[in-house]
Amino acid sequence: MRMSKLYLPTLKEDPAEADVVSHKLMLRAGMMRKHSSGIYSYLPLGYRVIKKIEKICRKHMDNSEAQELLLPIMQTSKIWKDSKRWDKFGPLMIKFNDRKAREYCLGPTHEEVVTDLVKDEVRSYKDLPLNLYQIQTKVRDEIRPRFGVMRGREFIMKDAYSLDIDYEGLDKSYQAMYDAYERIFAECGLEAVAVEADTGAMGGKDSHEFMVLADSGEDEIAFCSHCDYAANVERATSQKTEIDFEVEAEAEKIHTPEIKTISELEEYLEVPAAKMMKAVAVVADGEAVLALVSGEDELNEIKLTNYLQANELRAAEDKEFVELFNSVPGFIGPVDLDDVRIIADQRLKNMSGAIVGANEKDYHLKNVKSGRDFEVEAFTDLRSVRGGERCPKCDQGKLNIKEGIEVGHIFKLGTKYSENMGANYLDENGKAQPIVMGSYGIGITRLVAAAIEQNNDQYGIKWPQAIAPYQIIILPLGNDDSVQKKSEEIYQNLKAEGWEVLIDDRKERAGVKFNDSELIGVPLRLTIGSRSLENGVVEAMIRENNKKMEIELDNLRPKVKELFTEIS
Ligand code: ATP
Ligand code: MG
Repeated sequence: MRMSKLYLPTLKEDPAEADVVSHKLMLRAGMMRKHSSGIYSYLPLGYRVIKKIEKICRKHMDNSEAQELLLPIMQTSKIWKDSKRWDKFGPLMIKFNDRKAREYCLGPTHEEVVTDLVKDEVRSYKDLPLNLYQIQTKVRDEIRPRFGVMRGREFIMKDAYSLDIDYEGLDKSYQAMYDAYERIFAECGLEAVAVEADTGAMGGKDSHEFMVLADSGEDEIAFCSHCDYAANVERATSQKTEIDFEVEAEAEKIHTPEIKTISELEEYLEVPAAKMMKAVAVVADGEAVLALVSGEDELNEIKLTNYLQANELRAAEDKEFVELFNSVPGFIGPVDLDDVRIIADQRLKNMSGAIVGANEKDYHLKNVKSGRDFEVEAFTDLRSVRGGERCPKCDQGKLNIKEGIEVGHIFKLGTKYSENMGANYLDENGKAQPIVMGSYGIGITRLVAAAIEQNNDQYGIKWPQAIAPYQIIILPLGNDDSVQKKSEEIYQNLKAEGWEVLIDDRKERAGVKFNDSELIGVPLRLTIGSRSLENGVVEAMIRENNKKMEIELDNLRPKVKELFTEIS
């Protein structure tokens, strides 16, 4: 491709709208442009990278005997109501009516469409197993679209759905996808790790996320320093001991004027946070719930949401402290709270002598004990782990917390969708059984951003060769005829050998050409100037490490081949 013809609007400065490096570089390298919040056009360079990733996905999906199809983006509300997710997805789903006032949505995912598709066609156990996949645009009206394509409202996903006769079959299908995912990310040149994950709105049991470690990651992952335990903090656990205090005194009211937070209380009362219960007022599907964790812990809302099986969970608003909890913001506590469900973290099970809010402005209670002063519906794991805590799986390791970007997610769904939607097959005895399902996603466009997060420097992107938009860029410098001729010849020869080559034939200064080539991150740069031609060489630069070398013109083609076996 000739750069003079390429639609490549590069930018010299970092755009103000971007705060993470991949977003900045995708805009600066002319890979994409914003259409609206969280919605992007992919320009030729960006789309080439997307297509490369798609090709790698297809190869490994096809190798694992998954079959590609294409499902509708516009989906009826009926299937979502059948699966009971129409409300669960809530405002994340774009819903609308057609001209005949029939309800539709734009697909945020495709479990429903697949289940609906197979339910009348897959009749017998002989028709299974199956794995169906597609690469397609998903639409999710994210609350906070950000970081460019990392969290878009419209994005490309590879999604696959496995259909099996039983859980043994599902385990095999799941493992096949797990293995395929490892190959896909490795071939893309990415370091991705599989971690235990929360199943969220998908439902189901086992689940792994594939994470690319990067500072801009929106997820936190807990890794054990000793064994292979790795889990999203949304669900990670640790061996944190119960809190045990032997205070049997009666509960007593204490005056705490304007002292509302745990840290203010610590200072005012000169008592450590471990002796306090932190009460968090939430509203779960309209119902008032008080969650209790130790004063030194943080409530994990995902764990609470899962315990409550709630569709929507949010912090109570100030006026709701009064209306729903009959309390006051800053002074809420579990004692004498009527009509409020109280769920406590398991660490608090044997805690007595706690300090809690008194549900009265400027007052707390001390010496409080659960079971005596208030009743708890359940003690369960509600806290987020922290770095340094003991691994839940082995006895030697400690947890380290790192940030990561979720590029893939696999779920064992089980029979939730097939049961709700009536997707059955007949077993060997002619008895109807629900199909056992799994679902498997890769965020293709998010992967582009993740690859940049992992591979960049102050000059721009450093594409791993497998997903680079072009493999080689040729920079002819100056207006010398012999330079132009030789560059053109090299360009044609390398193309004829099957390389994907860009030639910067623009009438630009050398500095501009150098900068742009580094910005767009093509793995190998060949610079051709009159002086180097006189010496019978071209100057090569490997973008991965910015290493420069001279290559003899006579030896160019074999040397290029050799270099590509060495770089990642
Ligand atoms: P997240 O927790 O980041 O919101 P999710 O768990 O809701 O993602 P899944 O339903 O597991 O997402 O979707 C499969 C994959 O699609 C994710 O692993 C991610 O790579 C990608 N993905 C999900 N949401 C977005 C988005 N808003 N923009 C870009 N990619 C996304
Ligand atoms: Mg996910």
